[in-house]
Amino acid sequence: MRERLVARLSHPRNYVIRSACSCEGKGATMARILLVEDDAALARGIVALLKAAGYAADTAKNGEEALFLVDSEPFNLIILDIGLPDISGFDVLKRLRARGCKIPLLVLTARDHVTDRVKGLDLGADDYLLKPFDADELAARARALLRRDHGDPSPVVVIGNLMVDRVHASAEVCGRPLQLRPREWAVLDRLAAKAGEVITKERLISEVFSYDDAVGPNALEVHIARLRKKLEPDGPTIKTLRGLGYMLKAE
Ligand code: CA
Repeated sequence: MRERLVARLSHPRNYVIRSACSCEGKGATMARILLVEDDAALARGIVALLKAAGYAADTAKNGEEALFLVDSEPFNLIILDIGLPDISGFDVLKRLRARGCKIPLLVLTARDHVTDRVKGLDLGADDYLLKPFDADELAARARALLRRDHGDPSPVVVIGNLMVDRVHASAEVCGRPLQLRPREWAVLDRLAAKAGEVITKERLISEVFSYDDAVGPNALEVHIARLRKKLEPDGPTIKTLRGLGYMLKAE
């Protein structure tokens, strides 16, 4: 029985986040998530939960910061609180959609503001969650939105002898399960999604690491080297195309 992750937030409103995530350390589909939340304690709890689930997570504590970050970083999902100190979450949402931003967006709204969820959906939110919420539910909704975002109807990708199960965040070569750390899984997931195509090093780094991750110059190479070892001898190979990037290719 895996240990339950319980993040109890020391906030006057007593938000309690519980996760009984059965795949701690692994995200169903690796992705980078932006959390827009001004409540620092709640934000820390949610980020810890998202990171434990294997996602890269960044936070913005107000609307302007959120708009800036969305312009500069490739997020796959935005979790947006409505009550923000500068501009309201509704305005952030409206501005994002007005500039053509199509990133899936989940609105967080207080339970007593029922009309907020209707307004949020009308403005282009993809889903909403009422506060206080259960961590399992947040994780499940994030997974559902991310699956939709990846536009991949098949959650299982097969490349030669490698099978990547993006729902259960697992991979196997010739039926042999691979023991992958969260970051290794993230790299493999991105490479598998674009198998046979070149992915630049910069793009992989931006999709796999969050803003405040300390990314050393060789961090990606280290993960790639470990992955190569784990894929040997029967799995596909990760080719380095000098100056271009990486490509996962079945022999
Ligand atoms: Ca708030």
